[in-house]
Amino acid sequence: MAERKTGSVVHWQQLSPVLSIFRLMPEDGSPFPDYKAGQYIALRREDCRLTKRVIGEDGKPRYVPDLDEARNRKVGPVTHSYSISSAPFETARERYLEFYVVLEEGESGEPGRLTESLFRIHRGEDDRVGYVNRIAGDFTLDKRAAGAKSVVMVGTGTGLAPFAGMAKQLDHEAREGRRDDTRYTLFHANRTRAELAYHEELVAIEAAGRFDFVYVPSVSRPGAQDREDPRLGTGRGNNLLRHVFGMPLKEEEEARRAEGGPDVARMAAAVEKAVKPALPRHLTPEGLRARCVPEESVILTCGNPSSMADIKFIAEANHIRYEKEDWKLVLPARS
Ligand SMILES: Cc1cc2nc3c(=O)[nH]c(=O)nc-3n(C[C@H](O)[C@H](O)[C@H](O)COP(=O)(O)OP(=O)(O)OC[C@H]3O[C@@H](n4cnc5c(N)ncnc54)[C@H](O)[C@@H]3O)c2cc1C
Repeated sequence: MAERKTGSVVHWQQLSPVLSIFRLMPEDGSPFPDYKAGQYIALRREDCRLTKRVIGEDGKPRYVPDLDEARNRKVGPVTHSYSISSAPFETARERYLEFYVVLEEGESGEPGRLTESLFRIHRGEDDRVGYVNRIAGDFTLDKRAAGAKSVVMVGTGTGLAPFAGMAKQLDHEAREGRRDDTRYTLFHANRTRAELAYHEELVAIEAAGRFDFVYVPSVSRPGAQDREDPRLGTGRGNNLLRHVFGMPLKEEEEARRAEGGPDVARMAAAVEKAVKPALPRHLTPEGLRARCVPEESVILTCGNPSSMADIKFIAEANHIRYEKEDWKLVLPARS
């Protein structure tokens, strides 16, 4: 059993009310275990507002606040895994691990137990976060992209976390003269420009050109300013990838399948509402397609489950190897 330790949060960057980047430093000064970009670690807070499973009138299970006999909310520890968004070289140099987290919202609007507690952190006062002193996971370039000449990474929302670590590490290694001839293309999608974590850093890595890296940022709820930004694409990550491969939008494909059925009007409305995919202006679908020759490529994805399912469909339709980091399937034991 790996040892449990405690760290303190030394940096907290709020990107939006529900999205944050934070850095954790070991409290006893000992270093974190070595790791590879793309791996994860288990974090824990002691004061989480607990929930319990009940079966609703519809026969389906759901989670509701867990109350004691005096009807006070039960509070206790919760442990979950989080992908590390720092690069190994940053941890070796600065000693922190960095994370990119979203405040979870359950089906009934109830905030997630651990993320609600994390988002209550006040630096210097209540900033302690427990961790299991073991870094795990095989969502790494050497395991999932072995042999590929072209690596296409698609990170939606906080699913960018493992790819942020990979891009920073590749750039660092290239700076030290260690680079291969692999082509890396990173699609990064979120709702708004403010929610595109690591955007400036990734733009700078692409501009430095130390390794073959193309960065494709995109927002699915573009404002007027976003549409004018030549470096920013629009549309969801999966639809942007469909655009590159000359496929219809997911919503268009679903509407076509629903023709003649009861869902036609709903599907037509979804097509109307979908933000049309557009690439940053210096990129073209043909140029990006030329980077990912199917037999030489792998698509790695992490993030929104429905987006990942569609990316799998796109990969299969184009005969490209597909790999994903599934946060839902590998949920650790909950306290
Ligand atoms: C390998 C891995 C890496 C991950 N990396 C990241 C990351 O980088 N960033 C990130 O934001 N997230 C990441 N996650 C997800 C993260 O681990 C948590 O699942 C997420 O933050 C929600 O935790 P929570 O306690 O706030 O929500 P929870 O309270 O756990 O609620 C989440 C869902 O669990 C169910 N639930 C609620 N209460 C209970 C209960 N008592 N028992 C069982 N189920 C319950 C509900 O369906 C609810 O919608 C990762 C997950 C894995 C497995």
